[in-house]
Amino acid sequence: MALLQISEPGKSPMPHEKKRAAGIDLGTTNSLVATVQAGGEARVIADADGNTLLPSVVHYAADGKRLLGDAAMLRAIAEPGSTLASFKRWLGRSKHELKSESANEGYEFVLADEASGNAVAVQTGAGKITAVEASAAILAELAARAESSLGGPLQGVVITVPAYFDDAQRQATRDAARVAGINVLRLINEPTAAAVAYGLDNANDRYIAVYDLGGGTFDISILQLSEGVFEVLATGGDAALGGDDFDRAIVGWALAQAGIDSATLSASAQRELLIAARAAKQTLSEQDSARLRISAEHVKWQGELSRAEFNKIVAPLVEQTLSACRRCLGDAGLKTIDIADVVLVGGSTRVPLVREKVQVLFGKAPHVGVDPDKVVALGAALQADRLVGNKQDKELLLLDVLPLSLGIETMGGLVEKIIHRNTAIPCTRAQEFTTYKDGQTALLLHVLQGERERIKDCRSLARFELRGIPPMVAGAARIQVSFAVDANGMLSVSAQEESTGVESTITVQPSYGLNESQITEMLRASYENAADDRDQRALIEQRVEAEALLAAVGAALNQDGDLLADEERKVVDAAIVQLRACVNGNSTAEISDAVARLGHSTEAFAARRMNKSIARALQGKRVDDLAAEAASDTAS
Ligand code: ADP
Ligand code: MG
Repeated sequence: MALLQISEPGKSPMPHEKKRAAGIDLGTTNSLVATVQAGGEARVIADADGNTLLPSVVHYAADGKRLLGDAAMLRAIAEPGSTLASFKRWLGRSKHELKSESANEGYEFVLADEASGNAVAVQTGAGKITAVEASAAILAELAARAESSLGGPLQGVVITVPAYFDDAQRQATRDAARVAGINVLRLINEPTAAAVAYGLDNANDRYIAVYDLGGGTFDISILQLSEGVFEVLATGGDAALGGDDFDRAIVGWALAQAGIDSATLSASAQRELLIAARAAKQTLSEQDSARLRISAEHVKWQGELSRAEFNKIVAPLVEQTLSACRRCLGDAGLKTIDIADVVLVGGSTRVPLVREKVQVLFGKAPHVGVDPDKVVALGAALQADRLVGNKQDKELLLLDVLPLSLGIETMGGLVEKIIHRNTAIPCTRAQEFTTYKDGQTALLLHVLQGERERIKDCRSLARFELRGIPPMVAGAARIQVSFAVDANGMLSVSAQEESTGVESTITVQPSYGLNESQITEMLRASYENAADDRDQRALIEQRVEAEALLAAVGAALNQDGDLLADEERKVVDAAIVQLRACVNGNSTAEISDAVARLGHSTEAFAARRMNKSIARALQGKRVDDLAAEAASDTAS
């Protein structure tokens, strides 16, 4: 029995010791860490120089030294190949997937090593470095900041990830934390963290739009808050659109003003120009105009950029974000009027034009009270504090959403979706499947991700087998396939044969993932091809049905052909010939007609066979034996 503790007279009992936890926003451009202070307020932790934002840049020098943040950025011009930036885009992705992305130009990707499978690395002065390692370096630095601020080791951290991050990308984020020696309490979605930072978790039921424009990415998320529970209804955006594009647009404008062809500028001159453009852009968030100078190599130019001119330059980029917002609202089945709160996230939402346009689109002023660079880290810190048990209130439940549908391959190369995209996770769904052939004792399960109808248009996640199914006639086995996606977005699939209980399970952790533009592309393709896909699906299903009927009739004729008179047999044979002639053609209707005709022509035959087998059963045979017989008949 536990003894109750009583404090010594005169001495006050120790106050409940606060557990140390932190929230980390691991950003593409900037990362930062926040913690909840003794008073219950979340605060971002600065480094010794007072900087709160840590640029997500890591430099690996040949002497083995590692530089982070601003110090690493200074080396980017001289040694770009050994200075990793924007590596969040590489997390959980394969070399093949990265090659097709122009945003990563300038890095030579190599395979990390045998052991890490598909993971890619960059060849730096200090050897091969993966995105997981670079992320780990940033995480370790931020965790150390939090530890020195809180005065001891952290119990755990909450790390935020984009809502569209898939299994592989989430897993890679966890791996980075493991490499950094950090205990992950939970990964939460960036938009949800932002909503929490605004205290919206205490609001009445409502819909919330989170508009996040960072350095290189734009994300829009629609959240539903219902009885204090968040659910991500839909996500959208553009993985290659952000403040960096504003900088490039300014550079383009300046070069045009100066009459300079950018091709004549060296890479380092272009980089310097970008830095100057970024400074001008940030000035324009506060002032009506900004000076811009080009003093590189052979050219000298200086000019003035007004806010009005800047607005004109970036208007098309801002318009792109608005289109993505409209699409996302459509995905969520909502209209702008349904949105109660708009939350702005990301440094680029400081641009006045962005705020204006977002306000016009949603017809209401967005929340701007919390610094848009910090809002995600602050929300993560509040969550971390709750998860380690510092707050005695009910635990806040956070629900995420599945970015793409998950399904199983069925006969004919079709995909049967088990969990549809935008389903809130964690979730579990099960469906029954059966065998296709008589006597089939194993089932190959192929797990796929995507919106299309055919496996070749979806992404293969895993294959596994269920063995030990007792031999039965086709369609008699009952195989329950269950999909479970946990709170971190990890999928496990299990299959169980119901009569025997034999079971097989797999946890899906692909070694590479999808980026958002691929998800967007897969979704777009599924919309565009929906009608075509449906037709194809109908055709394939019809073919599968026809083949099954031909096989069944063939087996029955072999076994009991004598039950048919010659004339009857001719009719059946003609129907078989007709079906065989069209089964591989492209007319669903023709196959369907031929199937119906063959079915019709064998009705009387089927009835006679039924009578015969009943007669046989009455002679002392068990139905089980008949099934086994039928199975061995078709197998031979
Ligand atoms: P990420 O989420 O991609 O890590 P951030 O949210 O930190 O990025 O946003 C970085 C972007 O915000 C950069 O493009 C930066 O130039 C831009 N930014 C930061 N401050 C301002 C400002 N005052 N005005 C305009 N843009 C800004
Ligand atoms: Mg961000």
